[in-house]
Amino acid sequence: MAKRRSRRNTAIKNITLFLLLVAIAVAVYFLSPYLEQYFGEEPREAIPVGDGEYIEIHVIDVGQGDSILIRTAGGDMLIDAGPSSGEDELKAYLTEMQVADLEYAVFTHPDADHIGNADMILTDYTVSNVIMPDREATSKTYERMMTALEASGANVVEPVPESSFTLGSMTVTILAPVGEKYSSTNDYSVVMRLDFGETSFMMTGDAEEHAEEDILERYSTAMLDCDVLKVGHHGSDTSTSQAFLDAVSPELALISCGEGNTYGHPYAVTLQKLEAASAEIYRTDEWGSIVLISDGVDITVQPQK
Ligand SMILES: [Zn+2]
Repeated sequence: MAKRRSRRNTAIKNITLFLLLVAIAVAVYFLSPYLEQYFGEEPREAIPVGDGEYIEIHVIDVGQGDSILIRTAGGDMLIDAGPSSGEDELKAYLTEMQVADLEYAVFTHPDADHIGNADMILTDYTVSNVIMPDREATSKTYERMMTALEASGANVVEPVPESSFTLGSMTVTILAPVGEKYSSTNDYSVVMRLDFGETSFMMTGDAEEHAEEDILERYSTAMLDCDVLKVGHHGSDTSTSQAFLDAVSPELALISCGEGNTYGHPYAVTLQKLEAASAEIYRTDEWGSIVLISDGVDITVQPQK
């Protein structure tokens, strides 16, 4: 009898231990994103809230240029590929994030600070779809991109205004280019609105005032109002007209530019406008890579590395 009771006690102890281990494992699983956040590690998986889906926006510090990685449950999207001088930084960042495939690569316009590493992206990663404006360039960088694009077999998607697609639960709506005759290549930039739950993001490329005017003419303010604005043309005074800023009325402003860049980006006048609009400003030249996470309700800025 005594022996049997002892065996039963051992069994109960084992079950208790097992349940305790399960409880610890579950706790670690759910707490790990928060722990990572507090220990300053780059989050590979964002905080699961609500239905558990989330998106991440990474404005990668590639120096003077743009490269923005959007991670969703439906796959990754890269908006621009930075200048060729930022190739090592871009490659290292994507490697750290364990990016292998891109559902979409968007090359907003064919300037070297946006398509500098487009050939590398198209060669080293499996890219399913490429969105780019119908605008050619004569540069070697552009030629390299087109050669890599042909070899990649990626599907080329024309940026038709008002067309949209989804990545997970995120909706991407193409807003521009809407005009056809611009003197500046920047104005041909693919401009997109991203919607995830109640949160929204305006991605502008280098669209300048003329493009902004055409966008304002075509769309209602409701269509342009966003929580986050990726400030056009690295914060130059040729973008972010007061009327466009008023329509977007962002709470957060993201500026991608190189530390000590020779263009003087971002311009003081743009920063003043953003401040007057009460937008919180994040700049890659000061902050390094900027990571935002949206759970569909709140947008969290991840701590600086
Ligand atoms: Zn640019």
